[in-house]
Formats: sequence, C-alpha cells, structure tokens
Amino acid sequence: NSVFDHLVRAPEDPILGVTVAYNKDPSPVKLNLGVGAYRTEEGKPLVLNVVRRAEQMLVNDSSRVKEYLPIVGLSDFNKLSAKLILGADSPAIQENRVSTVQCLSGTGSLRVGAEFLARHYHQHTIYIPQPTWGNHPKVFGLAGLSVKTYRYYDPATRGLNFQGLLEDLGSAPSGAIVLLHACAHNPTGVDPTIHQWEQIRQLIRSKALLPFFDSAYQGFASGNLDADAESVRMFAKDGGECLVAQSYAKNMGLYGERVGALSIVCRSADVASRVESQLKLVIRPMYSNPPIHGASIVATILKDRSMYQEWTIELKAMAERIISMRQQLFDALRSRGTPGDWSHIIKQIGMFTFTGLNSKQVAFMTKEYHIYMTSDGRISMAGLSSRTVPHLADAIHAAVT
Ligand code: PLP
Repeated sequence: NSVFDHLVRAPEDPILGVTVAYNKDPSPVKLNLGVGAYRTEEGKPLVLNVVRRAEQMLVNDSSRVKEYLPIVGLSDFNKLSAKLILGADSPAIQENRVSTVQCLSGTGSLRVGAEFLARHYHQHTIYIPQPTWGNHPKVFGLAGLSVKTYRYYDPATRGLNFQGLLEDLGSAPSGAIVLLHACAHNPTGVDPTIHQWEQIRQLIRSKALLPFFDSAYQGFASGNLDADAESVRMFAKDGGECLVAQSYAKNMGLYGERVGALSIVCRSADVASRVESQLKLVIRPMYSNPPIHGASIVATILKDRSMYQEWTIELKAMAERIISMRQQLFDALRSRGTPGDWSHIIKQIGMFTFTGLNSKQVAFMTKEYHIYMTSDGRISMAGLSSRTVPHLADAIHAAVT
C-alpha cells in the first residue's frame, strides 16, 4: 500500500498536453500547432545566431564562475530589461523609480508579482481578460488573489469587445488589479489600437486600478521592439504605478532557459527600493535566486550595440515569417473557396490565430488530419510552414463543410 494510493490521475495541462498527444501519433503528416514555440520553415526549433555567439563568448571567458546570483538576479540584466520594455528615455528609469528582479521567465515573473501583491497590496481582486492564456487564472489564484474576468473578445466580429471591456473595468472596485497583455494577446491575437489603449489607460487611472502587464511577445508581434512596448510605455509615462512581467522565451528563443524579469514602476525611488527589499523576501523562500546562464546571454546581447542590432534583425525575420504564414493560410482557404470570412487570420497579431473553429471541428481535424491544437481552436502560426499550409487548409476546409 502506498501513502499516495488515494491520488486520482490529474489531467494533462490543456496546452502542454497537446504535445503529449502529438508525440504519440505515428502519422508522417502530423502537425503540432498547439504549443507556442517558433519553428523554422523546415519545421525545426531555432536557436538565434546571436544567442549562439553570446554563449560562445560566455564559455570562452574563463573568468566566469558559477557562484550564486543575488536574490534579485543579474544586475546588468535587470537594468537592461527595464530599459528594453520602458524605453531608453524612460523618466521612471532615470528617476530610479523602477524595481526590477530577474525571474523564471514570464510565468515566474507573473507569479512573483502576484505573490508580492497578495502580501502587500490592499486589493486582492485581479481582473483578467476573457479569454486569456490558460495559466493566468492558476498563477494568480494560487498566489492568493481572487480572479475575475473582464470581457475582451467578441466571437461575432472575431475582434475586440471594446465596449464590454470598458464596462467591466468601469465597474471594477477601486484599486483592483488589471492584467493586460502588452501585445499579441494570447489566445485571440486581438490587440486594442493605440487610441483604444489610451482610453483604457484613462479609465484605469481614473478608477485607481493597478495595471499588471504580461509582456511575453515584445518584438515578436510586429517585428519591432518599440512598437510592441507602446502600451506599457503609455502607462509608465503618466507617472502612475504598474507592474510588468517580461519573458525572453519567444523573442530571444530562450524558452527552456527560463529568463524573464518583473519590473514594478513606482512613484518614487524611495518606494521602489522598499518594494525591492520586499520582493527579496518573496523570492528567497521560493527558489532562493535565479539561474545565471540565460540571463547572462540576454545581458551580453543587450549591452553590445552590434549584437543588439543582430538580434533585432533575427527577431524581425521570425515575426515576418509568421506574418507571411498568415497570408499564405488565408490565401489557401480563399483558393479552396472555404465558406466563411477568414480575414481575421491576417488581421490578428502575434504567434497565434484564434480560428473560430469549435472543439468538435478541432477533434475532427486531429482525428482525420493529424493536426494538433488546443480545443479552443487556437493555432500557432509559428508552427506552420509553406509546406504544411496546404494540409492545414484542406483540414479546415473539410472541418467547416
Ligand atoms: N504569458 C503569456 C500570454 C504567454 O503566452 C506565455 C507563454 O506562452 C507566458 C506568459 C509565459 O511563458 P514563459 O514562462 O515561457 O516565459
């Protein structure tokens, strides 16, 4: 008898479980569009050249040791990460009002931020968009926050439900935390326009809500790092407070290295330094201090002008390949005369397309075409190539006719 005999088998993670099912499928035409990881035109994972170069430099530097990092991580990495998201000219950075800690990629940054808020912020309600990345409710709920949703996506237009969003945030209790996707909203690929962001900002500030940005796709959405940070910068510029969780998983292809940062923009340098002291108390009993390798790669690239330049070129190439996959899939459906308006495929932004296919259609495509995706009909455009677009278009066509 085991002391764990009472355990029931837990279900697979709804997103990562897609890959588990894919791996079991022996079909040669199988296609995994479930997981948000970039693939080359040949369907292979990609390590950026600039990342390889940075790693070589780190390996060749015999003065480097494997000592523990401080609790808050690598200092250069933290400064450069804040600068990357807030902009080189950010007044908050110049006035030392930003407290940044290195965390375990985007997820770890969200979790540390959530734990900090649960312990030190007076409002424990967080509003997350409906729908959102599947891990959000769990990350915030387990940290002790009470999770509510605000309307975001309108299935009828396959666009933003802006009126619903304004109404829901407008009736949120004063001080409530609001989770915002900085760009390339996952899973819908639908972002507010700059004009809509400005209205959201005014509403959030007028109600003293606390914005918490999740920035998992900076540069990956449009191909431009500054354009993709515009939403965050609008909030940081107005002098008010906000939190930002950054991930280098997608934009530097460092998925498994788990590199990210949490920045808290405060009203004064004094508050920021007290915030940092408390963040250390959150982190120390969780994992003591973060890993050194991935953050060293990022810092090496961000602080060298030519490496930074090389990164932006490689990043743009990834973003452009994804954008071209959108066009190719759209064209393939049009040429098949597939019923329906598929223009959302080219209008949506970032890694994913929210196809509008329902769970029955998804199950059909998996069974008959060996195409794997989450049951909400989200497909990763980064997992597609010119070679696989026709197969996907055939499957979608068959699923809807
Ligand atoms: N937030 C969003 C919206 C995401 O899509 C992801 C990854 O898919 C993450 C955060 C976190 O990713 P990671 O922890 O790998 O940086």
